[in-house]
Amino acid sequence: MQSSSRDSLKKSTEAVHEEHDAKHYGAVKMPIYQNSLFTYSSYKQFISAMGGQPDTYIYSRVNNPTVNVLEQMLAKLEGGEQARCFTSGMAAISTAILSTVKTGDHVICIDHAYSPAKHFLNSYLKRFEIENTFVSGTSITDIELAIRENTSLLYMETPTSYFHELQDLQACASLAKRAGIITIVDNTWATPMFQNPLKYGIDMVVHSTTKYISGHSDALGGAVIGSKEMIQKLEYTSLGSIMTPQIADLTMRGVRTLPVRMKTHQDTANKLAHFLQSVPHVRTVYYPGLPSHPQHELALRQMQGFSSLVSFETDLSIDLMQEWADSLRLFRIGVSWGGYESLVTVLSMPESSGSLVRLYLGLEDPEDIISDLTTAFNKLILRDR
Ligand SMILES: *Cc1c(COP(=O)(O)O)cnc(C)c1O
Repeated sequence: MQSSSRDSLKKSTEAVHEEHDAKHYGAVKMPIYQNSLFTYSSYKQFISAMGGQPDTYIYSRVNNPTVNVLEQMLAKLEGGEQARCFTSGMAAISTAILSTVKTGDHVICIDHAYSPAKHFLNSYLKRFEIENTFVSGTSITDIELAIRENTSLLYMETPTSYFHELQDLQACASLAKRAGIITIVDNTWATPMFQNPLKYGIDMVVHSTTKYISGHSDALGGAVIGSKEMIQKLEYTSLGSIMTPQIADLTMRGVRTLPVRMKTHQDTANKLAHFLQSVPHVRTVYYPGLPSHPQHELALRQMQGFSSLVSFETDLSIDLMQEWADSLRLFRIGVSWGGYESLVTVLSMPESSGSLVRLYLGLEDPEDIISDLTTAFNKLILRDR
């Protein structure tokens, strides 16, 4: 296919049309290159491969054709020049962060970022005298005030995964550019279907492909996407946490159905968020797709859709809400999200003596999910009397 005609394709078409060369007996998808190394029959060919000749492979920790196909798919969907895939979201995040800092630097990170990412900044990087400031991220002024002369990185995650707070991508990218600061956005919540931070001038996007992208709760993985220049600066060959071919194949299978899955997730979450607003004891529903979300306008501006993490605050104790969670039939109790199965987590809200419930809505029928939640709420309300 001509690349000029490909550029106009919709993302749902891109997701099922990966490019691989046609030398595999017409196999509809590329067979998995399940090998650690590539060999050459002459020293001349070997030397030219070692010299970085295109389409040549040496060793799968550096480059593997199966992993490369997934990388090209993700780069296309995010609107980036290049992608690199890793063994987990955290491997992608730590490798991306390490490529932007040196001793004596300062990092600004948003408060509600994924906690292991915060831990990496807060404890590991501190050993190398890399300082940080955590800011809410909902106000551009807070971010601006946190900038120091030695700030080298602004690390973001929008929306965040419990309160679904947003950062203004355009404003953050232009502020950072003026100050000479690199920007990284964790785009796991929205997926490339619903948000493309690179188009606002963000330097690197990171993903936990473990979540929606692979989509079946069976493959840990991560990705970093950006310009060729950014991706080539990643120290991935020596940090050594590159994705393996089998996982790349499983993840690609997820990518092919990502557009249809995300539509279903969005429809279900929209129904559920509206339903939850009418439930007694629910104080606030947190979901950027709701007009009542304080950043709904920004969400409409920078996102093309909303995925299926919905949280709500109740005036009931964490103990009661954990019992409530136990009584759900369709929700399993667990961390993570992005698979086919609905999940629930309950946290305490010490400031308000209530509790926060986060629902991850899987691919079950929304009517069944609403009826499951209704039954559990009714039991609670009866008990409460
Ligand atoms: C899960 C998650 C990560 C980390 O990904 P792993 O694949 O578990 O390493 C990073 N960011 C967000 C928002 C996540 O939900």
